[in-house]
Amino acid sequence: MYDPAGVTTSPDFPIPAQMKAWILGNPDELLFRGKATPIPGRAEVLVRIDAVAICATDLEIISSGSPASIQGGLPFNKSFTPGHEYMGTVAALGPAVDEVAIGERVSVEIHAGCGQCSRCRQGMYTSCLNYGRPDKGHRANGFTTDGGFAEYAINHINTLARVPDTMSDAEATLVVTAGTSMYGLTELGGLVAGESVVVIGPGPIGLLAVAVAKALGASPVILTGTRNKRLAIGKELGADRIINVAEENAVDVVRQLTGGIGADYVIECAGTEVTVNQAIHMTNRGGKICMAAFPHGPLTTDLAHLVKNNIYVYGIRGEGRSATRRAMALMAEKRFDATKIHTHTFALDDLPTALRYARDRVEDAIKVVVTARRTATLADVAAE
Ligand SMILES: [Zn+2]
Ligand SMILES: [Zn+2]
Repeated sequence: MYDPAGVTTSPDFPIPAQMKAWILGNPDELLFRGKATPIPGRAEVLVRIDAVAICATDLEIISSGSPASIQGGLPFNKSFTPGHEYMGTVAALGPAVDEVAIGERVSVEIHAGCGQCSRCRQGMYTSCLNYGRPDKGHRANGFTTDGGFAEYAINHINTLARVPDTMSDAEATLVVTAGTSMYGLTELGGLVAGESVVVIGPGPIGLLAVAVAKALGASPVILTGTRNKRLAIGKELGADRIINVAEENAVDVVRQLTGGIGADYVIECAGTEVTVNQAIHMTNRGGKICMAAFPHGPLTTDLAHLVKNNIYVYGIRGEGRSATRRAMALMAEKRFDATKIHTHTFALDDLPTALRYARDRVEDAIKVVVTARRTATLADVAAE
């Protein structure tokens, strides 16, 4: 049994010494194996993972390694467990932890900064200067430390957000995504009420950026993309206007909708050369652009336009400044329905199928959730 020194457990949550976990072998090779159940240290808890959502970044990590990094190198064949958008139940407490109790349902954010570098001291823990140094206390679960495609994971108490009883496991996994969108808006200044926001790209982060911007009072909220089905979901999440860029010129339409001047804020969630240049040209003088997608290579952009118009560009990584908790607050109050982007559910044992649905967008999959809480059947797949 699991009974490490200094760790508080409860008979209500018996923990096996060995857990089941997916481990990354060679590229595109995941192995379902037994692995020692991890032990929480100071200010850490053991989370029993109840559900985990698949992110495009997981697919990238599993096939090409980056942006995950283990011991300063690619994460292959290092007994690494990917997965970062998870929620679960606190199952054991590290030494002296009394901030949460065993049995509480929590969503997690990815990053726990080292707490000792100058960025962490400024509150910028997703930009921790000791990124990738677990020996310094830094964690980015699913990137530099073990993640959520397993039965249990370790989380720093600062990464936990309580899940209300009224919220389903699947919805709670989406708090990380909504938190990333919230962080983008936070870095742009946060006070978007009455100001125009364009979101480029109706992926999960883009769709929830629409929802969060709308919940914060932005007006108008405009969403651009190419797939009508996803644009329609954006409309349901609060977009005042959707633009299919295959049918309309996004820059022209945004200018028309903003009295000819362009948008106050643009959140770029597509990461292509075309869309980044659209963002530059649809932002008004002194406006701000948030780059929320990772472009795949160097891009040629109209920097002169950017400079001449005093346009600010922000790169964001992750879900910093406790944005996940603010996103959770909006979701707990049902200010938007994040579950509109959740399309499929599979059992943890069936992770490879879940990954295939996410990668190939089988049945128009957007967010695919894997649950460890129960054994899913085909009926679950059809039902959710
Ligand atoms: Zn993600
Ligand atoms: Zn740090």
